[in-house]
Amino acid sequence: MKGNLIIISSPSGGGKGTLIKQILQILPNIGYSVSFTTREMRVGETNGKDYFFVSRAEFETLIENGALLEFAEVHHNFYGTSIEQVKTEIEVGHDVILEIDVQGAESVLAKVPEAVSIFILPPSFEVLAARLTARATETADVLALRLQNSFGEVSSFTEFEYVVINDEVEKATQDLQTIILAERLRRDRQMRVIQGILDSFDETKKSKNHAIGEQT
Ligand code: 5GP
Repeated sequence: MKGNLIIISSPSGGGKGTLIKQILQILPNIGYSVSFTTREMRVGETNGKDYFFVSRAEFETLIENGALLEFAEVHHNFYGTSIEQVKTEIEVGHDVILEIDVQGAESVLAKVPEAVSIFILPPSFEVLAARLTARATETADVLALRLQNSFGEVSSFTEFEYVVINDEVEKATQDLQTIILAERLRRDRQMRVIQGILDSFDETKKSKNHAIGEQT
């Protein structure tokens, strides 16, 4: 069975990173798509783990080579999803989490309508601002830009199938897990397994008829 593509978006500081980390530890058969970005590496980030950090020229080459499932300019930097990485994971039956912005979510949904889309909403603007400030990963200018952009991002929640309100991390992680597990149980996503079961019923019916035929 192929894995599901799971899009997770939220404004900067929405807490999606923390939730995704938890989910990757808890759930089996799930991977994370490491994006390409032209953004500068932050202290504590690792190339190839948090992102593949590339130059603008390298990013343009990726676009030209058709290596990206989607890409977008977010807060004045470019970010993009590797087609190859996603394909490899999905083909081996793993779900893949795409932690992407709302523009990227829209592009992926246009190409892969069956992708699962989840929007992580902070409980309020004040909490978002406090989290982003406490994280202290951005300069004052970048922080202001991200907060400014959060207004537009939040209003895009209508494009998503699910909304998880990230008030308490435990509860939000549980909600996210529930969505991912329920999506695995969708009828159309289990068709191959179901068909195998139905085939076994066919055979039973055949042998049962056979047995009845023998008795009469
Ligand atoms: P950050 O710089 O805080 O790591 O990410 C900034 C924004 O870019 C976040 O909203 C994040 O979800 C988004 N982002 C990260 N990777 C991708 C990607 O591959 N494609 C798109 N469209 N957005 C991404």
